[in-house]
Amino acid sequence: MNVILLGPPGAGKGTQAKRLEEKHKLIQLSTGDMLRAAVASGNDLGKKAKEIMDAGQLVPDNLMIDLISDRIDQPDCTNGFILDGFPRTTPQAEALDSMLAEKGLKLHSVIEMKVQDEILVDRITGRYTCANCGAGYHDSFQQPRVAGVCDACGGTEFTRRSDDTAETVRSRLAAYHAQTAPILPYYGEKGVLKAVDGMTGIDEVTAQIEDALGAA
Ligand code: ADP
Ligand code: AMP
Repeated sequence: MNVILLGPPGAGKGTQAKRLEEKHKLIQLSTGDMLRAAVASGNDLGKKAKEIMDAGQLVPDNLMIDLISDRIDQPDCTNGFILDGFPRTTPQAEALDSMLAEKGLKLHSVIEMKVQDEILVDRITGRYTCANCGAGYHDSFQQPRVAGVCDACGGTEFTRRSDDTAETVRSRLAAYHAQTAPILPYYGEKGVLKAVDGMTGIDEVTAQIEDALGAA
């Protein structure tokens, strides 16, 4: 099963992708995580992407399309994948269609996670992750069971993304509305689009996604 989680930054795509990974034995393909790894490694892609990401803008389509096409070819994707953060523009959505057709793969569902902008600002500015295993948390909405200790691995170091600031969030939301939201009708016409209310609690969102996938 190949699924796209589509929604604005902070909608909960990463949080839900991790749950889908576990339950359905899929692989989360987060283009944001891939780019952050490229920036950390200092490779060519990372050098090109860093400033663009810090400004809250989108990395050029050709770079993103090559990145995801190569990743889908890896053997761990054979049972299916969850695209988190891709596609983000109409050319990316069209290129994804062609690459899936070429690779003989099908898209099961596109899940739109609907969340209002004002809520997203709080979600993003309060977000942090375990530096050891990458588990996601929030200052108010998803705290570890024991303060300062990761539920998943027991790690005690946490990090915040350099682009998770109140100013950058505004640019990222503008990019979402101008460049990403317009691809929703494209998937609507194909009959694969299902919307969920991303403003409910994390478990409730998971239940809505499971329903949407089951009904697809
Ligand atoms: P995205 O991957 O779409 O950018 P995340 O999954 O990282 O979003 O979620 C953003 C922040 O909001 C995280 O800190 C996460 O813990 C929190 N969060 C995710 N889903 C919900 C929810 N349904 N209600 C409240 N907070 C949430
Ligand atoms: P994310 O982790 O999904 O919030 O992405 C972080 C940043 O990476 C975005 O603000 C963009 O600068 C860049 N990025 C991630 N995915 C894409 C994509 N599919 N197309 C263009 N830029 C992307």
